[in-house]
Amino acid sequence: MIEQLRKDFPLLQNLVDEQPLCYFDSAATTQKPQVVIDAVNQFYHQENANVHRGAHTLSAQATTKYEAVRDKLAQYLNVQRNEVVWTKGATDSLNLLAYGLTNILGQDDVIVLSPLEHHANIVPWQQAAEKTGAKIALLPVSKEGVLDQSAAIELIRDTKPKIISLCHASNALGNIHDVKQLIEASKPYGTITVVDGAQSFMHLRPDLKALDCDFFVFSAHKALGPTGVGGLYGRYDLLNNLPVYQTGGEMIDTVSFTGTTFRNAPEKFEPGTPNICGVIGFGAALDYLTSLNKNELLAYEQSLHQYLLTRLRQIDGIKIWGDNKNNIGVVSFTYKNEHHFDIATLLNSYGIAVRSGHHCTQPLMAHLNITGTVRVSLAFYNNQQDIDSFIAALMETIEMLEE
Ligand code: PMP
Repeated sequence: MIEQLRKDFPLLQNLVDEQPLCYFDSAATTQKPQVVIDAVNQFYHQENANVHRGAHTLSAQATTKYEAVRDKLAQYLNVQRNEVVWTKGATDSLNLLAYGLTNILGQDDVIVLSPLEHHANIVPWQQAAEKTGAKIALLPVSKEGVLDQSAAIELIRDTKPKIISLCHASNALGNIHDVKQLIEASKPYGTITVVDGAQSFMHLRPDLKALDCDFFVFSAHKALGPTGVGGLYGRYDLLNNLPVYQTGGEMIDTVSFTGTTFRNAPEKFEPGTPNICGVIGFGAALDYLTSLNKNELLAYEQSLHQYLLTRLRQIDGIKIWGDNKNNIGVVSFTYKNEHHFDIATLLNSYGIAVRSGHHCTQPLMAHLNITGTVRVSLAFYNNQQDIDSFIAALMETIEMLEE
């Protein structure tokens, strides 16, 4: 089945620097299946028009197609269509949220984050804390970067946070967090719960009603869709009560020089011309993803992850970070004191695309007492052959570094 699916991703068939491509950077952005590329192409060839305005046929068709993707997304996340806002991506969604929730923060309030967060889930909250005097408390994490679940629950009890914002899965180490249990633990305190689903959206296909979070953010480009589009789910009453973030056309009811009134969510958060083509391309990605069996894909990804770990563990001097137990298929490693960038650069000369650096998680790297790692991130379109090629290239890389 996987060999058939791989054919849907044209870039995987290409040569990069005259080498077959082994793409291990899906946590940064996934490759795109032909159906997404076709949808984008078709939009500009045959369907291009602005949405929500104009009586002409193309505009009406573009509006119908664009709004249909909101239904697909709502279905994918098991929420209502008016609970999802289109944004530029996870970063944009988190900024919208932190800006909107600044209103409810005061100097006696606590925002709970974890040391594993992506900068996008730190800096907006830090700004909100600076403006309001609220404090940031961090969930306890082991030396290896693994969340201590029972100590986390204790911290929630002790701090009774106003807001908790936590990644569903770490982009640097791949750990999947039991966010459901932490959300439950924070319910007695009326805490607003935010889940950064940038890394879980595709791999775990979370059911947000079951997760019972208040807000959830994600980016389409990490789930086979185009860049520049993503979303924010919000429990409707909370979402609708957030103040407007950016203003302009489309999000208003009436405008006059005596004042402006705004529409309800989601429109009140969607000013201006949206990324119409991006949303339509993402619609094709959602159709593609939902046509595949979630559990089969996840089991396959898990087996690849295990194979990768087994092969890496056989190499002396490799240090793998995190516990790699419950993981979306991300392996972060270092080799002795060699610089992660050198390893990644040498691997690139064999057609191996990995990411090196701090992965926008500088506080985590500081916690682990390293400057960065080499990150191998898997998706269902990788195969065992990719991993074999990677291991062979890594062995040669190590040989060169040892010379
Ligand atoms: N959170 C996590 C966990 C991420 O992995 C990323 C992207 N690396 C983001 C947030 C930000 O996503 P984007 O750059 O698409 O806005």
